[in-house]
Amino acid sequence: MRFCVVGAGLSGAVIARTLAQGGHHVVVVDERPHIGGNCHTERDPETGIMVHCYGPHIFHTSDERVWHYVRRFGNFRPYTNRVKAVAQGRVHVLPVNLLTINQFFGKTLGPREARAFIAAKADQSIIQPRSFEEQALKMVGPELYGAFFRGYTRKQWGIDPKALPASILKRLPLRFNYDDNYFSHSYQGIPEEGYTAVIQNILNVDGIEVRRNCRFESLTGTFDHIFYTGPIDRYFGFRIGRLAYRTLDFERIVTDGDFQGTAVMNYCDEDVPYTRITEHKYFSPWEKDNFSKTICFREYSRACGENDIPYYPVRLVNDRILLDKYISMAREEKNVSFLGRLGTYRYLDMDVTIREALHASDMIERSFQSTRFSLPVFFVDPN
Ligand code: FAD
Ligand code: UDP
Repeated sequence: MRFCVVGAGLSGAVIARTLAQGGHHVVVVDERPHIGGNCHTERDPETGIMVHCYGPHIFHTSDERVWHYVRRFGNFRPYTNRVKAVAQGRVHVLPVNLLTINQFFGKTLGPREARAFIAAKADQSIIQPRSFEEQALKMVGPELYGAFFRGYTRKQWGIDPKALPASILKRLPLRFNYDDNYFSHSYQGIPEEGYTAVIQNILNVDGIEVRRNCRFESLTGTFDHIFYTGPIDRYFGFRIGRLAYRTLDFERIVTDGDFQGTAVMNYCDEDVPYTRITEHKYFSPWEKDNFSKTICFREYSRACGENDIPYYPVRLVNDRILLDKYISMAREEKNVSFLGRLGTYRYLDMDVTIREALHASDMIERSFQSTRFSLPVFFVDPN
């Protein structure tokens, strides 16, 4: 059979490999000049530093199958994400932990005292938080919310936290010990040769033909089935409207030596126009001292326009209504499956992206073995 995979990111690569290993011909198209999707990494020609071109990517998971899968394609070096944050003129540590609490409030509390201290500040009247703001007030109270979350979130999403879902904040832990690991997963790492090399290795199977600089819309030829990992609204030519995304502008800074002395510095105050600065040699600690220069990026978040790269799906009520309509249209299509971050319009971390692509691969393999090749339009419910 002959398949087309639209998008050479993680989703597309995992699916393409499964199809090719089934003995089929797979054309993978990506409109970018490189593979890797938003995980793409490349060495900066001026400094030699491995740069995460679409924003920093740290791999973290508790899924054994996913962790086993990715490590077949690259050497993942241990990496722990420890984030610093500038708020109200001082530097703190995130996620909020005992050090943050003690330093912010000028205290020397132990774990139990800190728990009681924050509980007294938290808004106990909120039982079921309906918004980001309610979630934050219930979790940490007004001072920490005002210092670390309100300004940053307004900049990141361009919307008042009162109008955002509580689920966005639930991604972050609150700890009453000195553990400042940003993630709570069992495994965490960054591939030694970068993510693009990992994705190249996933695609390195007979039967896969990768076409870069190739838009799906300009592709000719027929396929038995298409796996579409681009934006679902774009597949339909934005016929009934555009799903809202946030995009990012990156301002490049190159200097001698060190710039900020750490990988990620968030800027939580609203009067600072950027959300964070990332210093990329700190994402490769094993080679960090080999470089005389450093490269950083200031990140600015804004509404995604027609010609911008869609980064974060906004998914507010109106978007969900529009998404439902696109889902119904997609279900009418023949021989197409939608997957990945853009194909299902969801914020997916890399490990979830791989897990879903492996789940789809299981279904593809079962379909190869059955008498009739048939696949669902969605492998997971996009709602
Ligand atoms: P993508 O990587 O977006 O790939 C889709 C590809 O399809 C793109 O290359 C695009 O060019 C191509 N395409 C789209 N439409 C067409 C078309 N019509 N024709 C041809 N090509 C097309 N996850 C983590 O686990 N850890 C992190 O630290 C992390 N940090 C992140 C930071 C930022 C700023 C962002 C935005 C995301 C981050 N993620 C992180 C999430 C991670 O980027 C995604 O999980 C992953 O990229 C999803 O892969 P994908 O293949 O579904 O989509
Ligand atoms: N957030 C914040 N202040 C910070 C870091 C995060 O207010 O210093 C909020 C912000 O709304 C963000 C959400 O918490 O979108 C989730 O944080 P995470 O680091 O997971 O953001 P992402 O990886 O989505 O950029």
